[in-house]
Amino acid sequence: MSDMPIPLVDLKAQLRGIRTEIDSAISETLDQTAFIMGDRVRRFEREFAKYCGTSHGVGASSGTTALHLALVAAGVGPGDEVITVSHTFIATAEAILHCGAIPVLVDVDPETYTMDPQRLEEVLTSATKAIIPVHLYGQCADMTAISAFASTHGLKVIEDAAQAHGAMWEGKMAGAIGEAGCFSFFPGKNLGAAGDGGAVVTNNDQMAERMSSLANHGRQTKYLHDVLGFNYRLDALQAAVLSVKLRYLDDWTDRRRGAAKRYNELLRDLPVELPVERDRHVYHLYVIQCDRRDELLALMKSRNIFAGIHYPIPLHKQPCFLSGEAVRSGPMPVTERVADRIVSLPLFPEITSEQQERVTESIHDFFRA
Ligand SMILES: *Cc1c(COP(=O)(O)O)cnc(C)c1O
Repeated sequence: MSDMPIPLVDLKAQLRGIRTEIDSAISETLDQTAFIMGDRVRRFEREFAKYCGTSHGVGASSGTTALHLALVAAGVGPGDEVITVSHTFIATAEAILHCGAIPVLVDVDPETYTMDPQRLEEVLTSATKAIIPVHLYGQCADMTAISAFASTHGLKVIEDAAQAHGAMWEGKMAGAIGEAGCFSFFPGKNLGAAGDGGAVVTNNDQMAERMSSLANHGRQTKYLHDVLGFNYRLDALQAAVLSVKLRYLDDWTDRRRGAAKRYNELLRDLPVELPVERDRHVYHLYVIQCDRRDELLALMKSRNIFAGIHYPIPLHKQPCFLSGEAVRSGPMPVTERVADRIVSLPLFPEITSEQQERVTESIHDFFRA
């Protein structure tokens, strides 16, 4: 028992609690045989928009395609520059590059790991069109400063909220603050499908209409294609699963926050930097920083504890960008420092205090040795 594996994320534990509901949602959808579009998708889009407090939700096939849809609908195209961070998952930059635009990468705040608004001025050019703040690990970037900068310079803000379902900034939900907010329902995200899925939420009627059409081959009616679109639809089986899981999201978030608080207590007095909360953090990941990170990871692994690194190689050092893709970046002292020091500890709503104690005991032992 005492050396049972502790995974970074335990999707089996999540499924156990809701299995019958998920099974019947899937089985009803199979009976209806409405696999593409249809009322399951429309219903989830409405439910998720309501959850985020926006007037529209548009389903997408993944978080990556959600970002691409939002950028295209916002008018981002060849020659434009979009400011984002280097300390993120690659999808944020992929979406910009697939519009023919140039990602301009800036450094992050050393405490929150999110976009440092102080760095925006130095990379602004006449080609800057939009900003994509990433609400990394489940905490919103400083949307007050970023929104102020964007409105001064006439830039659009598209939120990458792929890790931040239910996070808040000054009373507003993640995704509902900028022009549009993009979510991923990758299975391990705070709200995860049984496969790939995503959504964009917005209060902008025109953008919502454009995104719905773009995601479905640019059509208005079955065989009339007004604009060149994509097949970026959310499928009905995923929507059915997501509607069930959305009802549990707030409870899961409370449990994530409770587990984070317990980690904070168990880890105090150790030479590690703990997460800093600026507003409502939903702990997609619980990330600490320390010296000799790789040795700590090795010790944990030897005890069957699976921690992670999000992310070990910043975007400005990725081979696919170094070899030709057009990416500009500012100085990255914080991003480069944290990439060598961060550890994501196992965290999921069902994690037990015994599991958390085993994780933190290994860290105590590491620093005692
Ligand atoms: C997961 C993730 C994405 C991409 O979502 P997919 O559904 O995997 O395409 C984009 N940005 C961030 C920050 C993510 O964590």
